[in-house]
Amino acid sequence: MSAAALRLTDSVTQLPRVGPAVAKKLAKLEIETVGDLLFHIPRRYEDWSTLTPIGQLQAGTIATVTGKVELITNKRSPRKRVMVTEAVLSDPTGSIKVIWFQQAFLTKILKPGNTYLFSGEVTQNQFGLFLNNLAHEYMGSGGLKAVYPQTAGVTSKLLRQLVDHALHSVQVQDNFPPDLQAKYHLVPLDQAVRWLHQPEHLQQVEQAKRRLQFGELVRYQLRALRLRHERRGVLAPPIPFSESLAKQFVSHLPFQLTAGQRKAAWRILQEMERSEAMRRLLQGDVGSGKTVVAALAMAHAVQHGFQTVLLAPTEILAQQHSKTIRSLLEPLGCAVTLATSGWDQDTSGLVFVGTHALLQQKVEFQNLGLLVIDEEHRFGVDQRQALLWRSGLQGQQPHVLSMTATPIPRTLALTIYGGVDVTYLQEKPVGRLPVRTVVREPFQRGQTLQEIERAVAQGNGVFVVCPLISPSDLLGVSSAQAESKRLKVELPGKRIGVLHGRLSTLEKQQLMVDFHGGSLDILVSTTVIEVGVDVPRATLMIIEGAERFGLAQLHQLRGRVGRSSVASTCILHPTPGTQSLERLRLLETIQNGYQLAEHDLRLRGMGELFGTKQSGTEEWLQFGLPDLALVEEAQAAAQELWERQQKK
Ligand code: ADP
Ligand code: MG
Repeated sequence: MSAAALRLTDSVTQLPRVGPAVAKKLAKLEIETVGDLLFHIPRRYEDWSTLTPIGQLQAGTIATVTGKVELITNKRSPRKRVMVTEAVLSDPTGSIKVIWFQQAFLTKILKPGNTYLFSGEVTQNQFGLFLNNLAHEYMGSGGLKAVYPQTAGVTSKLLRQLVDHALHSVQVQDNFPPDLQAKYHLVPLDQAVRWLHQPEHLQQVEQAKRRLQFGELVRYQLRALRLRHERRGVLAPPIPFSESLAKQFVSHLPFQLTAGQRKAAWRILQEMERSEAMRRLLQGDVGSGKTVVAALAMAHAVQHGFQTVLLAPTEILAQQHSKTIRSLLEPLGCAVTLATSGWDQDTSGLVFVGTHALLQQKVEFQNLGLLVIDEEHRFGVDQRQALLWRSGLQGQQPHVLSMTATPIPRTLALTIYGGVDVTYLQEKPVGRLPVRTVVREPFQRGQTLQEIERAVAQGNGVFVVCPLISPSDLLGVSSAQAESKRLKVELPGKRIGVLHGRLSTLEKQQLMVDFHGGSLDILVSTTVIEVGVDVPRATLMIIEGAERFGLAQLHQLRGRVGRSSVASTCILHPTPGTQSLERLRLLETIQNGYQLAEHDLRLRGMGELFGTKQSGTEEWLQFGLPDLALVEEAQAAAQELWERQQKK
């Protein structure tokens, strides 16, 4: 341990070589403290552990050597006019030439007479063997080298040096009781952190990750247990089930409820009758018809004189929901207020549908009995909580119904949603056809244009989704503005609108009304339409830059079509030059959101499914999908810890 002891909470500027400029770059990686640095997880490891004696190097291999620099010079290559740096390295078994291109600065760094680690490709030419594509490091030992997610100006090499300093001046505290540590075969946290950054072999990395992931899972489980415990005492106003209301509600529907919808609604209404606050998540694949289930619950709240709120993550969705809820509740005599940006904060009505505007501090309700949150993972936990405190109920809290289409494998739901009970809405309304899905390469664009023509000729709507709003430096990636220009040229006479998050509320609203009503043929948009948008006349969905999205997200986007009994199609256009289309092709054969989610988990990790807003999940998700056995062990450990805490 060095003399300069540091704490995890100390600023990274306490480390040598970290001035304001480096600190700013580190901040971009969300590294502000020594702790942030030590919990910055390596992306992968380069194997520098096997050292090859220079005398035994073989052409065509990648090798690591410890070599003394005998000489090093820069010269300009005569024909190509590039700077070539040549050096000769030696060890007791022999010597070898090394070549770098355009890295003249190396002569200032690598000093003749000093020994460094070099790792590179062994290549053969007419003059013999040489090493190229080199990485080098002035360090005592080889081993596995951590490679970090990095940003401009912060290389893995710099991070490795900073981490090395930090590890020499920090001891990481472990609050996990030693007996549980032994019971669950965990290495001490300090050891785990050291192994994570400076492993000798990959088993140490595995052990380290297991310890860190276990810790996060336990922390998360403990939070879930605490929430559940706190909830037990939370009272809510009982809202009795009314058969006549349910009948009346159903009689106004243009369709029959599915058995799944009836079952889910029944479960929810039963729970709302109790004086214990409901905290339920309704989970159902896109298009399974969650909104109408929520509306029936809302109707019950209103009938008993309670206010009710439906909270949506985007303005477009709030507008759409307000229309749907109006059509479902107005026949029963309830007026619906739309609360988006610019809302006057008047809370004298009974039914509110809106966005974050409802979460503002000044908004106070009088007797909010039921809060419904659509796409709940888009809101932070604290945001949701705020509304509960402003319900106007005395000594009680509203019932809460959350809804999500984010497909979570059943086995994980308990961990992720912790204190919440989950209801699954399994079937889709009858008569829905699977959305035919095809991946097309750029040369097949003509086919896509023909399909657009056909859909428009039949009076159907076409969505075109792009990853970006405007052209940018991301070379070749499609933007909504450029794409609409191109389509206007390719399909003259078609009525094309462009929708994105930078438009005003009114502009967005008008575009959706036009597209919904059929006075626009094609709606080119960013992913603002991703969640929840319901335009039954849309039957063709084209996704540009499709490789940039996760499978679950593509499934959400695809779910914007196939919402009537007309056959629908989804066409995926990867950015030209995209290497592997295999992942995208999974959508051609799999229609089930859960299965796709499981592939996503395997291929891209958990963060993809949840984004970053589901606060508390991201830490343990950064290692990818936890092994389910580990989840179960962590649950058991959390339970033991919880019981100990209760006894204190
Ligand atoms: P999601 O679960 O994705 O939020 P929605 O609630 O938006 O789905 O419903 C999707 C579409 O299905 C809507 O147009 C809705 O009116 C319609 N729908 C809902 N329930 C049924 C049903 N039982 N039969 C036919 N159509 C239905
Ligand atoms: Mg929805």
